[in-house]
Amino acid sequence: QAKRDGRNLFHFYVPEMNARARQRLMLEQALRGAMAGDEFALHYQPQVDIANGQVVGFEALLRWNHDDMGQVAPSTFVPLLEETGLIIPAGQWVFSTGCRQRHDWDGMLPEQCSLSVNLSPRQFIDKNLVPQIRQVLEANALPPYQLEIELTESMLMADTEHTRSVLRALKDLGLKVSVDDFGTGYSSLAYLKQFALDALKIDKQFIDSLTCSQKDAAIARSIIQLAHNLDLQVVAEGVETASQVETLRHLGCDVVQGFYFGKPVPASEVIRLPHEMALH
Ligand code: C2E
Ligand code: MG
Ligand code: MG
Ligand code: MG
Repeated sequence: QAKRDGRNLFHFYVPEMNARARQRLMLEQALRGAMAGDEFALHYQPQVDIANGQVVGFEALLRWNHDDMGQVAPSTFVPLLEETGLIIPAGQWVFSTGCRQRHDWDGMLPEQCSLSVNLSPRQFIDKNLVPQIRQVLEANALPPYQLEIELTESMLMADTEHTRSVLRALKDLGLKVSVDDFGTGYSSLAYLKQFALDALKIDKQFIDSLTCSQKDAAIARSIIQLAHNLDLQVVAEGVETASQVETLRHLGCDVVQGFYFGKPVPASEVIRLPHEMALH
């Protein structure tokens, strides 16, 4: 009886796995085509100085528009890019496209207004990262302070010689480095003093319930205090309401980003956005 159940289980799971594997393979092949077929685009979301409403930066967010599937969510395709290694050419495309577009906006955006680019673990350990960034800055005549790199906690936890030298090289180039999704990763905070960082981005999950959960408010407050004690800026992600802005201002947060100020928009719309946002 047990044997038959086992066999049934086996028969039950195999087609299921095949379907998943086929789906994955199909997505992977489509992604390879996306690189060649002009299906990627960058959208940009404003980052706003909470003191005066000035737009101080834009985060570049990768979009994939497939002929049949339509818009595919980054949460679906970015992990696949990462697993297949396609994130290396895709990430290179993000850097060169983002920097070229930031250069195109020269004179139309405030000089200090930065471009933030997300970096994945595989890109971070890639030997060519620093030379590539140096090259793309030069090719677009972009001052390094206009480029900001967003890393995640897990990438900094691996305290290797390589991590150190990459971060030092990015700093020497004059880039800003921020820690994305802060608070969702590892509990060890030792890396915060090991490396020269510029900003922490408080993860959206703590912002969501900021105004209704004492505990999330306490976490946000602690992150802001910790960051300021370490001379880091604080950016709040996923800000959707005026009362979240108000609370964050109270807590001393520096920069806010989220649908309240604007969803990510195509490059063509960036210069039409106001340079100063209403805070309430
Ligand atoms: P992330 O870097 O933490 O980006 C923030 C995400 O939150 C974006 O989702 C953005 O559209 C969304 N968001 C911003 N404000 C709000 C808000 O007020 N409410 C809600 N509900 N969502 C908000 P998106 O564009 O889907 O990207 C998801 C993730 O995919 C990013 O998270 C990042 O980890 C990754 N990603 C996107 N573009 C790239 C890229 O070029 N390279 C790499 N390596 N990863 C990328
Ligand atoms: Mg910035
Ligand atoms: Mg990010
Ligand atoms: Mg984030």
